[in-house]
Amino acid sequence: MLARRALLAAGHREVPEAEADLHVINTCCITAEAESKSRQSVRRSLRSAQEVYVAGCAVNLNPRQFGEIDERVTPFVGTADDVAAAIGASDGSAGIDTEHNVLARERRAGSERGSRTRGFLKVQDGCDGDCAYCIIPTVRGRARSRPASAILAEAAERASLGQPEMVMTGISVGDYRDPEQGLELGQLMLDVARVPGVERVRLSSVEVIHVKDTLIDALTTEPKVCPHLHVPMQSGDDAVLAAMGRHYTAVEYLEHIDRVRASVGGRRVNITTDVIVGFPTEDEAAFQRTLDTVDAAGITRVHVFPYSPRPGTAAAERGDLVPPADKKRRSRELRGRSELRSRLHRTARLGRPERVLIDKVADTQCSGYTADYTRCYLSCEPADAPARGALVDVECVALYADGLRCEIRGPRGLS
Ligand code: SF4
Repeated sequence: MLARRALLAAGHREVPEAEADLHVINTCCITAEAESKSRQSVRRSLRSAQEVYVAGCAVNLNPRQFGEIDERVTPFVGTADDVAAAIGASDGSAGIDTEHNVLARERRAGSERGSRTRGFLKVQDGCDGDCAYCIIPTVRGRARSRPASAILAEAAERASLGQPEMVMTGISVGDYRDPEQGLELGQLMLDVARVPGVERVRLSSVEVIHVKDTLIDALTTEPKVCPHLHVPMQSGDDAVLAAMGRHYTAVEYLEHIDRVRASVGGRRVNITTDVIVGFPTEDEAAFQRTLDTVDAAGITRVHVFPYSPRPGTAAAERGDLVPPADKKRRSRELRGRSELRSRLHRTARLGRPERVLIDKVADTQCSGYTADYTRCYLSCEPADAPARGALVDVECVALYADGLRCEIRGPRGLS
């Protein structure tokens, strides 16, 4: 968002991808897949662009891998915002006119700009953690938060552009602390919820050790704060958690989740998680403890990451790797458990009223998410279709493989 703004302010024109002669790409190396997608993105840009500037953490980690792709590629150590500022400030001395047709493309884990109904508010960057498998602290640095005043201004701008849902994003979002007023994440979410035009405030992910009282308070008191927490578990075995450098035990993870559920009371909070399967030292008994912890925490969806060593991390030096066949089998089993739990979660919603924020509208079907992040599909005639961004009251009537079929309540549907 900042990169785009800086480029537009400097007189560049934003145009469709095929028409842009200068591309600025923000790369990511959080996972090997994200890094590979960053390289693909650069190659795709080279089909039409005359110059490609690449920045972001994958470039910071290894600028050469991008410089070697093509002579038109300029790796820039820093962020895409830095490169945009450098291009924008140029008076031609750097060989760059300020009247390029540009494309500022974000290539992070998902788009930083969000969808047409959902605005991603980046509230902080970096992480003070020391997880043995993770490259992020090396490439993104220590945790630092954006001022709440800037975040609220961005939320107001996004809401005025028709994005009613704000998603708080970052690397270690729960660690947020406003550098000006000292507000914590939960307090910031309450302030974002009060911005005119904002209907929902969602959290992308929060570490279990960062589930603070102010966050629970926001979930309890503000209906616009979505009752969905994505809380990475990574393992349910204490020895594996210690080897990973995670600073909690399985019991502590469960205690935090129970505390959320007990405090929030009347609102059902949907908890999803990440698990790394096959980290060194994980044996069958340890894996079974992970399955048990997923069940005990009432998790409704697990993002399964089969472990692969990331060069430059402490864990990459280990020799005690889990055999690939075991890793594959356990990953399959955990995905099966996740699917089962997701189905239970959706089944419990059948016959219940929900409110859906419409984000996709097609000829005969539209869809969107409930506040607790369950995908819902609605049949509709083109003339009757709700607008994208509308909040619609529905009743859940059937299971779909990845969500629920719903019918609109009220004059045009169920009454
Ligand atoms: S908490 Fe651990 S896994 Fe998450 S970004 Fe920080 S170091 Fe990486």
